[in-house]
Amino acid sequence: MIDMTKREKLIELRKKALADKKLPLRGGATNLVFGNGNPEAEILFIGEAPGHWEDQKGIPFVGNAGLLLDQTLLSVGMNREDVFVTNMVMYRPPENRDPTPKELKAFEPYVNGIVGAIEPKIIVTLGRFSMAKFLPGVFISSVHGKPREISWKGKNLIVVPMYHPAAALRNGEVKLKFKRDFEILREGIKMDDKSVKIEEVKEEVRTKQMELI
Ligand code: URA
Repeated sequence: MIDMTKREKLIELRKKALADKKLPLRGGATNLVFGNGNPEAEILFIGEAPGHWEDQKGIPFVGNAGLLLDQTLLSVGMNREDVFVTNMVMYRPPENRDPTPKELKAFEPYVNGIVGAIEPKIIVTLGRFSMAKFLPGVFISSVHGKPREISWKGKNLIVVPMYHPAAALRNGEVKLKFKRDFEILREGIKMDDKSVKIEEVKEEVRTKQMELI
């Protein structure tokens, strides 16, 4: 089998999603919002579902929540080119309602495909839907900003659950926590050589988290 690059794998997967007529929400949407960023990224952000602007542009997190995400990334020395960003559902639900379990299930192969193609060292979940995928049964209020090592399809990776930026926009306290969680994430990542030292992430973040309590 020919070895495909991560970018090529993502392009193929996007084509497959575009051609998938069985995907729910397709009829009411303008564009598929597959994901964007750096295919070689070590950090993958997973949100919930596209909103109005994402649907218009076909790019995740380009509305108000996206602006906060970009500003917060920037405040810790990162930008979209350092990470990859996608959502649990790739077509906009009507009136931005929550995705249903059936819709989440239908998009699962594509979300898993992105994780499989990128093989990130860290997955940052934005909001409860992506958090529930990797850390079922937890509450965001008690676990946000705390990295957990999990085994995902035979590989170890770190999941950092975070509040959704839209929730941060609605509530000042959540916004502070959201920003603080990024600082904690940044502490554990050596951006100078763009490599993530998993053990250090866990140790440093644990220490930081203790200091903040
Ligand atoms: N909210 C999300 O979860 N994803 C987006 O792409 C935009 C808003």
